[in-house]
Amino acid sequence: MPKPCANCNSRNAALKRPKNGALICRECFFDLFETEIHETIINNNLFKPGDKVAIAASGGKDSTALAHIMKVLNERYNYGLDLYLLSIDEGIKGYRDDSLETVKRNREQYQVPLKILSYKELYGWSMDEIVQQIGLKNNCTFCGVFRRQALDRGCEQLKVDKMVTGHNADDIAETVLMNILRGDIGRLERCVDIITHDEGGFSIPRAKPFKYTYQKEIVLYAYFKKLDYFSTECSYSPNAYRGHARELIKDLEQLRPQTIIDIVKSAEQFEFTNETISEDSTVKKRTLMNCVKCGYISSQELCRACVFLEGLNKGTARITLYSSHGQARAGREAMAKEIEQQSSSSSQTDAASTPQDKKPSQDKSLEW
Ligand code: SF4
Ligand SMILES: [Zn+2]
Ligand SMILES: [Zn+2]
Repeated sequence: MPKPCANCNSRNAALKRPKNGALICRECFFDLFETEIHETIINNNLFKPGDKVAIAASGGKDSTALAHIMKVLNERYNYGLDLYLLSIDEGIKGYRDDSLETVKRNREQYQVPLKILSYKELYGWSMDEIVQQIGLKNNCTFCGVFRRQALDRGCEQLKVDKMVTGHNADDIAETVLMNILRGDIGRLERCVDIITHDEGGFSIPRAKPFKYTYQKEIVLYAYFKKLDYFSTECSYSPNAYRGHARELIKDLEQLRPQTIIDIVKSAEQFEFTNETISEDSTVKKRTLMNCVKCGYISSQELCRACVFLEGLNKGTARITLYSSHGQARAGREAMAKEIEQQSSSSSQTDAASTPQDKKPSQDKSLEW
């Protein structure tokens, strides 16, 4: 016999909520799910009326659900936000080209303008070409560094005040665990912030409305709402280290669903001081500056994207990867000095230029 919904007690329960096991009806699930995200937005002052907000959209379920819910909540609660979709085309045939088609459909479904920026256009290299040079090991490190900067450049071109990403509670719990396992205190400190931004640079604040939302609930929501999303994995192997952290958290979630939110809440309580990092630690908290080559916010004279690009252009990207991890610091500093001298002898320095030799046309990929 069907059980009544534990929330409204009038309709039949249709699902078991992944985060707490409550048996509820579909309508109550939609209502609770959307209200909880609205409360996260309000309690953390994620936006102010009139903000222009870019939704980082990959076509996957998290970002598609985010685009849908931002649109719904913005209208229901009169946030007064001006929404945009922002997508990055890494240049991965059979994966990103197909998922971008989904984002283009989302643009029509939600009536939200879309901007697409490609690695090829920004850096002169697609991920397919990068993988041809560096192979399938560490490709995600290149991709992650390039994507972070590409999203910032997209936000800059859209002139938005904020960007929202689909990072959910599971992603954050994984990242907390990974940073603990790697002893990366700097990232551990930042990874649970609901809004992250780099002071002093032009990096756009990034907000995570799904910070307390379980992955499984996003999947259920997207499924019951029949959202149009792309579910194929990237053809280049996903980050193996994160995969292990993910498996561990999934196993723990099976035993105790509360584990995910408890990891996030515990990490929120961590306190960091300069003494947290020992004198001889290779892990240091970041002092931020602007990259001497492209002007992007960086913790070194040269940002990682410029170091990686230098390696790709010289055909030494594999070596560069290890250098960027701190093993050839002297070489990196010498490279930065050389560029600094070149730019000071030049009469014009464009602090916001992209890390490739020629700055691309600003409006080339505007798609609306
Ligand atoms: S799996 Fe790796 S290569 Fe593929 S899109 Fe993600 S970061 Fe890029
Ligand atoms: Zn109900
Ligand atoms: Zn740079």
